[in-house]
Amino acid sequence: MRPNRVSRDGIALVLSAPSGTGKTTLVQRLRQEFPQIGYSVSCTTRQPRPGEVAGKDYIFLVRAEFERMRAEHHFAEWAEVHGNLYGTPLAPIHEALRQGQDILFDIDVQGAAQLKLSLAEAVFVFILPPSMHELENRLRKRGTDSEATIDIRLGNARKEMLEARWYDFLIVNDDLEVAYDSLRAIYLAAGLAPCRNAHLVDAILKD
Ligand code: ADP
Ligand code: 5GP
Repeated sequence: MRPNRVSRDGIALVLSAPSGTGKTTLVQRLRQEFPQIGYSVSCTTRQPRPGEVAGKDYIFLVRAEFERMRAEHHFAEWAEVHGNLYGTPLAPIHEALRQGQDILFDIDVQGAAQLKLSLAEAVFVFILPPSMHELENRLRKRGTDSEATIDIRLGNARKEMLEARWYDFLIVNDDLEVAYDSLRAIYLAAGLAPCRNAHLVDAILKD
């Protein structure tokens, strides 16, 4: 049995998938089963929406402050979306991981590629649809996109999937139960890696 006073470092779990693949569905299940998994709070230059809480939903910054932080390499990754800047602050992530907090990153391939450079120890998982035909079905079934948007999303999906090869793990979301079992297996196995259990062997030898 593991000596229970020896805690491990947190896992940075990065998930990417083309829109419509089922990432949200899988993330919800993982967070339901493992509520201890946290999310990283991004910085943004956009205005808060009604109901959004500063520091919980986003850290809201004026553009000049965001640009200063970006120049000083405070962000693990950043992007401009619809004219607003968004970024993932790096220092709180390192601190949380050191304290054993697991963090999930639900992030697109470009953000994930930047994260790979600044947070190399993260676990990168790409979720694939079983086929392009099924991806199209799911986008239709979700009912949130017009036909034109579905065409754009399918075009983007092809480009995104070419990036899947540099990820650590690929999950095909065909049968949801099988896909979820793979995701939880990756999460549980990541917690057993020696790099996140630096003090485990010493603690056992000392006992
Ligand atoms: P994403 O977050 O990747 O855009 P969603 O989780 O919103 O995708 O899923 C898109 C649609 O596909 C939803 O209607 C969801 O219920 C459905 N879906 C998810 N996984 C599966 C699966 N394994 N088989 C069939 N439908 C699925
Ligand atoms: P919203 O303004 O609607 O909350 O988010 C707009 C877009 O910005 C979404 O696609 C969201 O995923 C993306 N986004 C939010 N935070 C970050 C971040 O820290 N980094 C990147 N690259 N994108 C982000």
